[in-house]
Amino acid sequence: MKNIVILGSTGSIGTSGLDVVRQHPSLFSVIALTAGNNEELLSQQIEEFSPSLAVISSADAALRLQKRHPATKVLSGVEGLCEAAAHTEGEVVLSAIVGAAGLLPSWFALKAGKDIALANKETLVMAGHLFTEGLQEGQRLLPVDSEHSALFQALNGEERKKVKKMILTASGGPFAGKKREFLETVSSEQALKHPNWSMGKKISIDSATMMNKGLEVIEAKWLFKLEAGQIDVVVHPESIIHSMVEFVDGSVIAQMGNPDMRIPIAYALSYPKRLVLNAPPLDLLQIGRLNFSEPDKESFPCLSLALEALNRKGSYAVVLNGANEVAVELFLKKKIGFCDIPRCIEFVLQGHNDFDAGSIEEISHIDKEARAKASTFCSQLASF
Ligand code: NAD
Ligand code: MG
Repeated sequence: MKNIVILGSTGSIGTSGLDVVRQHPSLFSVIALTAGNNEELLSQQIEEFSPSLAVISSADAALRLQKRHPATKVLSGVEGLCEAAAHTEGEVVLSAIVGAAGLLPSWFALKAGKDIALANKETLVMAGHLFTEGLQEGQRLLPVDSEHSALFQALNGEERKKVKKMILTASGGPFAGKKREFLETVSSEQALKHPNWSMGKKISIDSATMMNKGLEVIEAKWLFKLEAGQIDVVVHPESIIHSMVEFVDGSVIAQMGNPDMRIPIAYALSYPKRLVLNAPPLDLLQIGRLNFSEPDKESFPCLSLALEALNRKGSYAVVLNGANEVAVELFLKKKIGFCDIPRCIEFVLQGHNDFDAGSIEEISHIDKEARAKASTFCSQLASF
């Protein structure tokens, strides 16, 4: 029996994680669950999984939940999240809060020596060096992102120095093949309609701008200790090959499967074992063809901006991430246009003077400054 903590249990990854637990009640016990604002769903999850701790953002909501579920301790706010992440009974923490809000709880899990099943890619984008250096002997940082899970599975048992490069696949999102002129006019409703994956809003927009792939290149660099030049991105619209490792002898090992996040979540939670999963099988005959093309960096400049931040090293990736989060939120609120997202990020990146981000506090400070600059930039746009 493995004791698990789920940070962000009411989200897309969180609910898929609970579905994996539901399929294997004899293997997993849920110790703590945390949510942002979805009080009703968290209440149902407490009822079903009886965690010893539950956390929700608002103090009022925590009081109401505490009355409804006296057997579970209910806390609120960031302190609650950090307590859940470091819970003494927790063994593996599924880090599935969205955005920079996931960084501090992931850090508490790391410091408490927990294995981390990491969905929150922003954690590694912002603080990859601190997380890779901070891992204790025997502690595991297991990828949940489908591409990184694919790379991890393809690498299994191979010597790292035999890897020539890694190839991340990208679906291309809902606007694959579209040009800048069209993209200037798209709405958030159109951008949220991902062709293959059902995900939270922020990552859906990141997929539409291709920032998601940029964040994933940075995530891969830290997880697999690669140089920027060792990571390629290939557009593969069917999302069947989740990523590939090319070895020095010319062999390329790809991991395939239906686009179903329960597969990489289950692999991370049960590693090194593989679980039986009740999910539809991959039907290659029905799919028929797998296609590949080069990413269109001109129409989707977010990918180039992320690669630029990666090459400039230091705190540029923190700035990239903070500016992106602000711009995506404003796009979702219809305050700015789709192409204003890369405009905002480019502006904030260009104005940044590198700063050695040697601690979580410094990273949070740089993040805050980048957000303030991004908000000011966006408020000056004509469409605001
Ligand atoms: P989501 O929006 O569906 O869920 C986010 C969860 O975090 C929810 O439980 C929400 O209540 C909680 N949350 C949000 N803001 C919070 C805050 N300030 N404080 C506390 N809790 C907060 O997002 P998602 O799609 O599940 O993505 C979660 C993470 O996993 C992201 O980092 C994303 O990039 C990554 N990821 C997601 C997918 C996917 O298929 N959804 C795939 C790969 C990686
Ligand atoms: Mg991914």
